[in-house]
Amino acid sequence: MVKETIRVYARLKPLGRRQQAGTYSVGDEKSASSLEIVVPRDLADGFVNNKRESYKFKFQKIFDQEAKQDVVFDSIAKPVAECALAGYNGTIFAYGQTGSGKTFTITGGAERYSDRGIIPRTLSYIFDQLQKDNSKVYTTHVSYLEIYNECGYDLLDPRHEASRLEDLPKVTIMEDPDQNIHLKNLSLQQASNEEEALNLLFLGDTNRMIAETPMNQASTRSHCIFTIHISSKEPGCPTIRHSKLHLVDLAGSERVAKTGVGGHLLTEAKYINLSLHYLEQVIIALAEKNRSHIPYRNSMMTSVLRDSLGGNCVTTMIATLSLDKRNIEESISTCRFAQRVALIKNEAVLNEEIDPKLMIIQLKREIQELKDELALVTGKQRTSELSQEELLQLDELIETFLEDSDPESTLDIGADMRKIKYCFTYLKLRQNHSKISDEKLLSHHISEEKDTNKEAGKEELEKMKELLQQRDNEINILVNMLKNEKKKAQDALFQLSSASAGSTLLKQSQSMTLEESRNPSRFFSLKEVEDLSSSVHRLPFLSRMKEGKMSLGCQEAFEVFKQDHADRITIEDNKQLLKQRFAEAKCLGEKINEVRNKINHLKGEITQRCIQRAALAVSNPSEELDALDPVEEKLRAQIEEEKKSYKTMFNRLKGLKVEIEHLQLLMEKAKMKLQKDFEVWWTEEGKNLQTQQENTELVSSPNTAMVYPQFIKSSQHLSANSFSETTRADSNEDSTGKNSSILFNNPTTKTRTPPSSSTSIPLTGDSQTDADILAFIKARQNILQKKGLGNK
Ligand code: ADP
Ligand code: MG
Repeated sequence: MVKETIRVYARLKPLGRRQQAGTYSVGDEKSASSLEIVVPRDLADGFVNNKRESYKFKFQKIFDQEAKQDVVFDSIAKPVAECALAGYNGTIFAYGQTGSGKTFTITGGAERYSDRGIIPRTLSYIFDQLQKDNSKVYTTHVSYLEIYNECGYDLLDPRHEASRLEDLPKVTIMEDPDQNIHLKNLSLQQASNEEEALNLLFLGDTNRMIAETPMNQASTRSHCIFTIHISSKEPGCPTIRHSKLHLVDLAGSERVAKTGVGGHLLTEAKYINLSLHYLEQVIIALAEKNRSHIPYRNSMMTSVLRDSLGGNCVTTMIATLSLDKRNIEESISTCRFAQRVALIKNEAVLNEEIDPKLMIIQLKREIQELKDELALVTGKQRTSELSQEELLQLDELIETFLEDSDPESTLDIGADMRKIKYCFTYLKLRQNHSKISDEKLLSHHISEEKDTNKEAGKEELEKMKELLQQRDNEINILVNMLKNEKKKAQDALFQLSSASAGSTLLKQSQSMTLEESRNPSRFFSLKEVEDLSSSVHRLPFLSRMKEGKMSLGCQEAFEVFKQDHADRITIEDNKQLLKQRFAEAKCLGEKINEVRNKINHLKGEITQRCIQRAALAVSNPSEELDALDPVEEKLRAQIEEEKKSYKTMFNRLKGLKVEIEHLQLLMEKAKMKLQKDFEVWWTEEGKNLQTQQENTELVSSPNTAMVYPQFIKSSQHLSANSFSETTRADSNEDSTGKNSSILFNNPTTKTRTPPSSSTSIPLTGDSQTDADILAFIKARQNILQKKGLGNK
């Protein structure tokens, strides 16, 4: 690694005969030279605030006007070329105003052979060295890039015969993830010897010259970078060294404002060339300490020369100066720039890398050598793989060893690395396999148990929650209903007591309920209820409801709902009518039976009479047998009479049957309507309760929220058992109506049972209402017990 500042040289161009020389002096010190430029009186007088007359600049070395190209090359370029040959990157760039000798220094003069510049001399030197060095294999390539107006052009493209710069292939900059700059489209031409390389240089220079027209002063405004790429490697060694040597002819450094007017000498005029302005910025940034960002990307030239400036490169600058009187100011500018560049430190590293292909070849060779050696020592030729037979033998050996219970037992497979490795692999596989299968078994078992337990518990919990919500809401609805009932009763009582006739009515109704309760025939037995419920199975709606379980609370609510329903009177009327018709039919049936019996009896009498008369004719043949028997005639007349009444009664019964069936249908319809109305009401009530709870936050249980779906469910599952009044008609086949019956039950008698034990339900605080609630709950329990459902 070479860490050093950029070496800065100065070269003074010989002055023409007509040029008036400025005053300067070159002083040689130990390790550096100094250039003192004296500003002439006539010029200095014009500068405002300028009291200085001379400027002193330090350079690595100053080449005065007489300095020849070979001397310049030896001092400046040779050391850099040597670095490039050793594997380091190098850059030599010439900086100065147009006409100061940049191209002369870098490329050389066209007239004399001795005027050859740094590029041809470097090429010559490098190829000389390469020829001398037999220890390495070298490969050399050259590229020639011109940057004009931020555009790169390939000067070495042989396919193009350029008449204009724009005809040349355009070169663009690419940056890889490691921030390395790559030049796309810049051709790398291989040059195996000096001649080839010089031909390429000539081609590039021709292109450069042709492209230059008076309209585009390319040579003064463009930068040219000639690069020699060297790669070297020692035979048998996988490392390759790469190096690049940039020989740079920069654009003219002249500035916009010419000197002589108002102090411009000190304030620095602007560059004509913008990329040189960016070059200066990069150099200022690099000279500053603790500067993290260097604006290389601002121009193509600084991007390409990135490594040369503050990077991995041995860099040298030649400041070309034309020190005639008119160019004093530009010369001072150039020197100032050179002073800044001299502060920049570069760190050149050896560009070495290992070629993987070469590495593989080398290692393979090494392996073969070792194998040969081994075969020689053991006397056996070995392949890298064990044979199938050897593998089977090994398997057997390992298994026997593992199964052997003797702790002293050993596994002897000989001193063969392949066999030893195979044994370890075998054991590892065995170990892993048993571990995996154990883990699998265990985890499977655990997860299964966990899952089922969790699932079951969760499901159970959800069910319980649902049920609890349902119950809470049912109780709330029932409490509301009870409150309404109570209010209605109170209102009625008030109306009755205010009216004079009211009291007797009340008494009547009370006595009626008393009478009803005393008449056990008007209640259902449990058996009857069951019979009834089964009798209504043919109704699609009711059977649908019976499929699911209806909640007890819902049943209760339905009982109460029925009492207040508007259709109740119609149903009641129809029921009464049906009852009457049934009674009529029953009576008629009995009468018909009587008539039938009578007819049968008369028929029997006639037969008797006939037998008697036949017997008489046998014993007493004189009797007039053929004469009509008046008794028989009378009996026959009677039969005819009875038959007539039978027919009338039968027709009447037929009519009754039709009427009864019609009434039954009507009642079923009414019941369905009732059921539907209840469903709607129940759902509405559930909704209302929910919103009420949400609004007032007066929730008795937190689980009462979101119960709406359960309400619909429970109302849909109203069982047929909830109908305490049902009709049954099996009269289709039984025309006599013998088995027909009308069953009637009034549930209000049951809900008015006096209150007793308390139940844990939300109470209102009002003593009267609470008593009613408790009574209601008790009554509900009674009903359920009677129905054999028992509420716990
Ligand atoms: P630049 O490239 O800086 O614009 P040139 O290299 O083209 O300048 O030089 C301008 C002229 O000066 C050319 O004709 C060149 O031959 C001549 N010249 C420059 N430097 C020297 C030198 N050291 N010796 C002889 N002639 C030179
Ligand atoms: Mg030039």
